[in-house]
Amino acid sequence: MRAVRLVQIGKSLEEEDVKIPGIDVSDVLIRVAAAGICHSDAHYRAGISKIDRLPLTLGHEVAGRVEKVGSDVMHLSAGDRVCVHYLVPCGSCEFCERGLEQFCRSGEMIGKHRDGGYAEFIKVPGANAFPLPGEIPFEVGAIIMCSSATALHALNKARLKAGESIAIFGFGGLGFSALQLARALDCGDVYVVEINPAKLASAASMGAVAIDARSEDPVEKIKDATGGTGVDVALELIGSAKTMRQAVLCLAPLRRAALVGLTAESMSIHPYTELINKEAEIIGVSDHLATEIPALVEFALSGKLRFPQETLHAVDLDAAQINAALDALQDSVDHVRTVIVPLK
Ligand SMILES: [Zn+2]
Ligand SMILES: [Zn+2]
Repeated sequence: MRAVRLVQIGKSLEEEDVKIPGIDVSDVLIRVAAAGICHSDAHYRAGISKIDRLPLTLGHEVAGRVEKVGSDVMHLSAGDRVCVHYLVPCGSCEFCERGLEQFCRSGEMIGKHRDGGYAEFIKVPGANAFPLPGEIPFEVGAIIMCSSATALHALNKARLKAGESIAIFGFGGLGFSALQLARALDCGDVYVVEINPAKLASAASMGAVAIDARSEDPVEKIKDATGGTGVDVALELIGSAKTMRQAVLCLAPLRRAALVGLTAESMSIHPYTELINKEAEIIGVSDHLATEIPALVEFALSGKLRFPQETLHAVDLDAAQINAALDALQDSVDHVRTVIVPLK
């Protein structure tokens, strides 16, 4: 089969002809119908995030049709449409047994530790393949498995309840999903903090209060808009110490800031006046869980989580097209997602 693979760090991906993987009793073989091209793939290619095993087929946002089913997999049949949860846990450690597979020490990520979906076929454990209703396009089924799933996990970790107000710092891929999913959970007012004019306009068009952090102080603006109180939930999706601090400072007493963005910086908080005195909570968010995928698919099915056709751009399973899409990711400012749709 054709696969587009990372052969050497820092170099373009290459097309290789590889064997169709054989499956174990607990696996399924999926014919890839869509594979999202993600920022982290550009980081793997550039060597910013470390890849141990080369050559490797990238692609952790995958949807397709089941081609073959291992004898132990009961919930799927050949021909079924599925989307793929990208974390493959050991299944038997203390964390796996509690359904907290993102802490499994021997867990593997598809498209990072094992071959991913930039290929005609992918082998995954049956437990990682979730039914994808026919109403949801494969492209959408693929891309919701990364940033949308993490946005939902962040909202779950932040314990967002109906009617609660939320401030979203950063309106890239995560923010675009977070806003829609917060609405799906019946949130109250939504504030989006950004510096990019196109993203601010997009947030405003989706009914959020758009706060331009270049010209106004987000914390003051949010306090003013909430009668001096602050918001119930803040999500930091950028990965900057400055906005992490703002996410904590814009909270009302007893409220919760969930930090998702990655940074090597340290953030400063005055323990008494900014945290203890308010009984505020700062919550770390890492990845997402298999148990969250069915709800995510349900939100996509009901139209509460939408990726309109104009936000999807298809390329073929072709090394040149995929490398060009990875190059273009660096400076993308809109919400257009590029998805590999292998031509037959
Ligand atoms: Zn991704
Ligand atoms: Zn485990």
